[in-house]
Amino acid sequence: MEISNLIKMQRMFYFTNETLDISFRRKQLKKLKETIKFYEDDLKEALLLDLGKSGAESYLTEIGITLKEISFMEKHLKKLMKNRRVGTSIKDFPAKSYISPHPYGVVLVMSPWNYPVMLSFCPLIGAIAAGNTCVLKPSEYSIYTTKVIDKIIKESFDSNYVACVTGGISVSQEILNQKYDYIFYTGGKVVGRIVMEKAAKHLTAISLELGGKSPCIVDETANIKIAAKRIAFGKYLNAGQTCVAPDYLYIHESIKDEFLEQFELAINELFTSKPFESENYGKIINQRHFDRLSELLKDQFVLIGGTIDSKSLKISPTVLGEITATNKIMEEEIFGPILPLLTYSNIDDVINYINQNPSPLALYLFTSKKQIENKVLKSCNFGGGCINDTVMHVASETLPFGGVGESGMGNYHGRASFETFSHYRSIMRKETWLDLPIRYAPYTKIKNKIVKLFLR
Ligand code: NAD
Repeated sequence: MEISNLIKMQRMFYFTNETLDISFRRKQLKKLKETIKFYEDDLKEALLLDLGKSGAESYLTEIGITLKEISFMEKHLKKLMKNRRVGTSIKDFPAKSYISPHPYGVVLVMSPWNYPVMLSFCPLIGAIAAGNTCVLKPSEYSIYTTKVIDKIIKESFDSNYVACVTGGISVSQEILNQKYDYIFYTGGKVVGRIVMEKAAKHLTAISLELGGKSPCIVDETANIKIAAKRIAFGKYLNAGQTCVAPDYLYIHESIKDEFLEQFELAINELFTSKPFESENYGKIINQRHFDRLSELLKDQFVLIGGTIDSKSLKISPTVLGEITATNKIMEEEIFGPILPLLTYSNIDDVINYINQNPSPLALYLFTSKKQIENKVLKSCNFGGGCINDTVMHVASETLPFGGVGESGMGNYHGRASFETFSHYRSIMRKETWLDLPIRYAPYTKIKNKIVKLFLR
C-alpha cells in the first residue's frame, strides 16, 4: 500500500473513536505483549546476527524492558487516562474545570539500529496507551531484527491501526513527506534536523531523542573499584553503541593509575582477556561504522585494548590516553567501544569544558563528596544521568528519559510516554443558570470596579 494511502486509512480509523476506549487499548497492549513473547527467540537470534548481542543481554536491555513497559501501561492505564479536576476561579462561577488527556491522532515513530527492539516498541507502547494510531519505521541497518519487528507488528495489528514500514533512506524520506499529528524520532542529529524541517512544514509537534558526547567524571573521592566496574559496563555494553554510554572520561589526575588498573580488571571480568571470543561482547553494526571507528583509532595513544578484527567487525574494549580537547576523537559522538581518558586537577576546568560544548544526553559523576555532586549538577546542562553509576537511569520507568538542547527534546518511559503521546486539553464546563454581566460591554464604572476586585 502507498504510504499516503496508509496514513489516510489510519486517519479514517482514528476518527471512528475506537482507540479512545480503554478496553481497546488494553487489548492491543496485551496482543503486542503476547506476540513479542512468542517471537522472543527470533528476536534474540536476530539481535545476535545484527549486533552480536547475547541472549541474556538482549533480554536485559531490549525484550525485558519492552515487556516491562507494557506491564506498566496495563497497570496504570486507567489512572493515566483519567481527567484531572482543577480549581476554578470565582470570576468563572458557576463552572468546573478539568484537564483531559486526548490522543494526537496518527503518529510516526522512527527508530535506530542500536537497540532496535526497545527503541521501536517503547515509543509504540506509549502511542498505543495514549490512544493513537501509529506508523513505525525501524532502521534499515538492523536488518534481521527489523524483519522480526515487522512480523510482530503485522501479526498483532491491522495496518489501518498500527503499521510497520521498512526500507532505506528513500522510504524514510517518503514517510517524512506525509502529514502526521505527532512525530517521535530516535537517532542521530543529522536526520533529527531533517525530521524537524519536515515537521515544521505541517507544524507537527515532535520528540527528538538524539545522542551526543556524554561525559563521565571520576573524582579523587570516588570508590574506584565500583567506578571502574560500572563505567566498563556502561561503555562496552552493546560494544559502545549506546546513546547514553559514557563518551569520554575525565579522571582526577591523582587516581588515574589506580583507576586504569581496576578498569582493565573490570574489562577482563566482563569479557575475559579475549573479548573477541566472549559471547557477551558485541560487534559493530556494519562496515561503515567499523571503518569510521577504526579511523578514530589511528595515531592514538592506546592505554588498553586497541585491537580490531575486520572479519567479525569487532573492536576490543579500548581506552585512549594523552587526549586533549583538540584530539579528533573529541569532535563527534564516538558510538563505539573507545574511551578517551582525560585528566584534571580542578573540577571547574571539567565543568567549563562540558559547558563549552553542546548539552549532552547523559552525564555521570563518581564521587563521595556531596559538595562536588551539587556543584556539577548545578553547573551543567544535560538530559539525565547517574551519580556513582552509568546508564541505569534509562531503565527506570519512574524516570522520564530524554535530552536537552542538541541531545534532543521531549522525554518518555512509563508515565512520561503516555504524556508525550497525549495532548492535555483544558476544559471549562460552565453552567447556564447564571450569566454574570460583568464581562459583557458596555463596561460601566461599577463593572470596572468589580473587574478590578477579581483581576489584580
Ligand atoms: P539510523 O541511521 O538507523 O537512523 C534512524 C532513522 O532515521 C532510521 O529509521 C532511518 O531509516 C532514518 N534515516 C536515516 N537517514 C535518513 C535520511 N537521510 N532521511 C530521512 N530518514 C533517514 O540511526 P543513527 O542515526 O545512526 O542512530 C545513531 C544515533 O542515534 C546516535 O547519535 C545515538 O546517540 C542516537 N540514539 C539516541 C537514542 C536516544 O534515546 N536518545 C537512542 C539510540 C540512539
